[in-house]
Amino acid sequence: MSETTPPTDHSEELLRKIQEYNSQLEQRIQEHVEELREEVLIRKRSEQALRESQRRFQTLVEKIPEVIFQLDIDLRVRYLNGAWSVITGVQSSEVLSEPFAGLFIEQTATELQRKLVDLVNGNTESVSLEGRYLRPDGTEIWLDIYADSERDTDGSINGVFGMAYNITRRKLAEDDMKRALVKEKELNRLRSQFISMTSHEFRTPLASILTSSELLEHYSERWPREKNMMHLKRIQSSVQHIVRLMDDVLILGKSDADRLVPEPVPVNVNQLVASLIDEHTMGHKATQHIAFTNDMECDSALLDPKLFRQIFGNIFSNALKYSPPDSTITVSLAGDCALLRLSVNDEGIGIPPADLAQLYEPFYRARNAGDVPGTGLGMSIVKRSVEAHGGTIHVSSSEGQGTRVHIILDLTRNHSQTPQTPAS
Ligand code: ATP
Ligand code: MG
Repeated sequence: MSETTPPTDHSEELLRKIQEYNSQLEQRIQEHVEELREEVLIRKRSEQALRESQRRFQTLVEKIPEVIFQLDIDLRVRYLNGAWSVITGVQSSEVLSEPFAGLFIEQTATELQRKLVDLVNGNTESVSLEGRYLRPDGTEIWLDIYADSERDTDGSINGVFGMAYNITRRKLAEDDMKRALVKEKELNRLRSQFISMTSHEFRTPLASILTSSELLEHYSERWPREKNMMHLKRIQSSVQHIVRLMDDVLILGKSDADRLVPEPVPVNVNQLVASLIDEHTMGHKATQHIAFTNDMECDSALLDPKLFRQIFGNIFSNALKYSPPDSTITVSLAGDCALLRLSVNDEGIGIPPADLAQLYEPFYRARNAGDVPGTGLGMSIVKRSVEAHGGTIHVSSSEGQGTRVHIILDLTRNHSQTPQTPAS
């Protein structure tokens, strides 16, 4: 058994110091632990606050009624908020990683892609574009797209973020306004043309009515009956001319207001065409040869005789007016009770190619019409009447050689009308 040596003063002093250091160390450790605990607590609180603020921000972004998007550097969708699904009808999750521009209608897609590429290449500050989008239900919407570049802390571009507003209503209202403006302008143009037309076209028959009536007033008792009759006839035909002009303008007015609705009744088209040919050739003492062929396999077709009179009358009177004496005008009728085909060919002055495009514009006359009388209303009335009847018109012409007008009328339209006695 070893003998323990009693502690010296020196070792006592050492032990005391060690204990003192120890307690100081413990105290420091305790303080550090406290500090750390505090720090952890603060960090936890700030993390929670951050999470809370992120959650609030996310809810805000998700709930905002405008589209918010984030794209990666390849311009593919990284994030789209809930408004995308509401506005486009396609779930945001379905288009994740899709090229963003490609989601839009072709024209918008090309332009948007070009602008976004410029943006990520640093060539532009931001992107702004009004683009079109086709929803799965087939409706088209307009989006006002705004995008900016997203940068890393070192300033390099790492993606794109932006917003898109649904501006469809505004666009539709703009379109409506544009259409109304065009219509208004067209109406104003027609009005001024009508005023200048009336002063020209009405003046001659009105002057002739005035002259003949004045002559009759002063000389009717002295003149023989034939001369009186001649002046009376002149008055009558001048009045008829004015009535025809008024009718033309009325039809145009009706078709502009979409009130040109056909009233179909069963009609013997063959008889109607034959009588219209007689009316025009006798009334105008035509010298052309008329070849009329009827291959129509239907004795009683459902059509509006008033509109048909306008259609045939105008086409046939043009053929007479614009072709020389002794030439031949061919009228052919074909089709059945569902589809009527009518063509009128002449060997006249023809229509210059440059004028063909404007043939159906009211008051338009081809440059080679020269002194041939006319107001330029006939063909626009024909076109509107044909279209009101669900039909099509095609005119081919070669200057100096002749003109061919071909018309197809859909006779199955408005079949719900009660058939009445055939009219011719
Ligand atoms: P109206 O209102 O009295 O019929 P218009 O005959 O001048 O006058 P449209 O029938 O509308 O008017 O024809 C427009 C223009 O087209 C004519 O002015 C004429 O220049 C040209 N045109 C129409 N049909 C023929 C045709 N068969 N041959 C040559 N030119 C034609
Ligand atoms: Mg005409």
